[in-house]
Amino acid sequence: MKRILDNIVEECRPWTSKGEVASYIPELAKANPDILGIWVTTLGGEEYFAGEYDFKFTIQSISKVVTLMLAILDNGIEYVFSRVGMEPTEASFNSITNLDSHEEKIPLNPMINAGAIAIVSLIHGDTIEEKATRILNFTRKITGNPYISINDSVYESEKKTGDRNRALAYYMKGNGIIEGSVEEILDVYFKACSMEVTSKDIARIGAMLANDGVLLTNERVISREACRIIKTIMVTCGMYDASGKFAVHIGIPAKSGVGGGIMAAVPRRMGIGVVGPALNSKGNSSGGIKILEKLSQELDLSIF
Ligand code: GLN
Repeated sequence: MKRILDNIVEECRPWTSKGEVASYIPELAKANPDILGIWVTTLGGEEYFAGEYDFKFTIQSISKVVTLMLAILDNGIEYVFSRVGMEPTEASFNSITNLDSHEEKIPLNPMINAGAIAIVSLIHGDTIEEKATRILNFTRKITGNPYISINDSVYESEKKTGDRNRALAYYMKGNGIIEGSVEEILDVYFKACSMEVTSKDIARIGAMLANDGVLLTNERVISREACRIIKTIMVTCGMYDASGKFAVHIGIPAKSGVGGGIMAAVPRRMGIGVVGPALNSKGNSSGGIKILEKLSQELDLSIF
């Protein structure tokens, strides 16, 4: 397995130069586009890695899966999906059209920015700090890494430049989809996106989802039903408006982030974390997708 991963990372390196690091959040533009790494955690507890697997990056949109889990734990499945839809989109992850196509004016799904902002507004806690700390502690628990923290420079950078997210949030507030202070909700959302992780951390989240909501320590974190719903939404929406192609060519429930990470859950087999900050035009890691494509072929990982 180790040799397979080493070979795949080296074969995929040329794809890093086909992408560009995210620059709309200025702090992310500082990332090294040549980085490429992978971590695999099997449900038997074996771990394999290759490339720059220990590179630290911000979790970005992969946090949308984490906050969705926490919102479901806090509010139940039914209530959460009365505030956010389950439909894929052909618009980009931060598009305003994602807000106008659902008849009830709820965001299309929890994996795009609007949906995740609505989800964050449902997370319990009396203050911004309490909500952000609950998300951080939950992430530490499902990764098994108590050292995960927020990258303050990325958080500040997002807060300063996140006007598209503000627009989405105010529009939703105007439609009665979210309640309370938009700035406070966004503050929690930006903090969640700015948690710093490695490919190992996200592979561990993938392993928990692959294991129907149970950690490798045998502790159940979310219900089997919630886990099934989340993995299904990862398939249809996890790679934004590239989810269809990803399902056809790779066929694994996955979630990407503009920090360059992709978290993938192969049901009953393994969790996979890949990192490559150079992104394609859809905002997904260019080298990371190639790695998953080759690994899926090599190990026959497609669920379809
Ligand atoms: N923090 C990013 C944003 O809100 C997350 C987007 C992403 O990873 N696709 O724009």
